[in-house]
Amino acid sequence: MSITREQVRELASFEDLKSCAVSFYFQPSTPRNKAHREDTILIKDLAREALHRLEDQCTEKAMKESVRADVDRVVRLSGELRSNGTHAKAVFACALQNVWQEYDLPANLPETQLLVGRRFHLKPVAHLLGAFPRLGIVLVDRHRARFFDLRLGELTEREGLFQALSRKGRSDGYAGYDGGHAQRRVDDEALHHFKAVAHVLKDSLEKGLFEKWILGCLDTHRSQLEPQLHPCASQALLGRFSADVGHITNDQIRAHAEQIVERWQTDRRQQLASEAVSRARSHSRGVTGLRRVLRSLELGEVQTLLIGENFQAHAVECSGCGHLDAHLVNFCPACGRPTEEVVDVSEAILPWVIRRDIEMFFVKDDPEFDKVGNIAALLRFRSEEPQPFNVAAAAELSRAGAAYRLAHPCG
Ligand SMILES: [Zn+2]
Repeated sequence: MSITREQVRELASFEDLKSCAVSFYFQPSTPRNKAHREDTILIKDLAREALHRLEDQCTEKAMKESVRADVDRVVRLSGELRSNGTHAKAVFACALQNVWQEYDLPANLPETQLLVGRRFHLKPVAHLLGAFPRLGIVLVDRHRARFFDLRLGELTEREGLFQALSRKGRSDGYAGYDGGHAQRRVDDEALHHFKAVAHVLKDSLEKGLFEKWILGCLDTHRSQLEPQLHPCASQALLGRFSADVGHITNDQIRAHAEQIVERWQTDRRQQLASEAVSRARSHSRGVTGLRRVLRSLELGEVQTLLIGENFQAHAVECSGCGHLDAHLVNFCPACGRPTEEVVDVSEAILPWVIRRDIEMFFVKDDPEFDKVGNIAALLRFRSEEPQPFNVAAAAELSRAGAAYRLAHPCG
């Protein structure tokens, strides 16, 4: 089963005060045949380390038993992972609270990991959610078109879209008598077919069936289809790969598509990061640095959060109201209750961000971004500006004659 946004949000709300939340991520190594044994060994090593840490850190029996049960189950599971080589896997478990959830993920996680803590480790899935658009894949030749959806590693074919067309466009029987005439007829039918494909694409985008799409076809067909595309479809096209519609396997389709998405994500990340930095510089809708980003998060200003892949910073979290503070104060400045230290503030931010559906990207290898503190955000509004972001309030203000501009929800 692949994971949905809603499920990630639920996982983000989970907390076990005894720190028995076990998170396991499995990234299959390649090449596959020989590597499976190494994967199993790696998982056993990770399990051993996790249990060692547990012995060192905790004294309570029930807690130890809970974690041990889950870790043992993960090790048992690793035996089954071989047959599933094209997928990565995530497990979230807490025996103490009767939680065990398994998900398939696209096989591009940074590494296999096993972690135990108060909350589930969600960085790898947050990674996927933040950057994965609703994606369509279209395979085309002269008389066929196959439509697929790709959602977090799961490829589904949408069926029955083109039956009427594929019957019509075939080139049966032209070689016989009047080659030229028949060839024209076949070309006309192909053109008609490509136009129809373009129409379905436009329709799917308008209906929101997908936001971005990828084209798989032979070069000759590509040059016939692309001139027919509606501008919105051309704009939403992430990339292309060469494919023979009849022979390509689902695994091949997924692998091609994931590669293209990854390239696109890298570009988009870089673009958003530099935008946040330059907007922060010009004091418009962008902030950089932990203190400012935390403040903007709490004010509800953040639209897109950008965190350095290896960003690490201490902070404190209020045990009462959940306020996060970059100053290591003992008592919460918001409500006065005692605070707890958070070793990795990006882990503490994650559940927050996921619950509020804030777009998030992890940035890597960006010296400019490094300089501004490795954390930044694009804002939907700045609360210093008197800009109403509530539609009803804005309408009321405009009725009252005030000339307020509405902050655009898409920035
Ligand atoms: Zn507080």
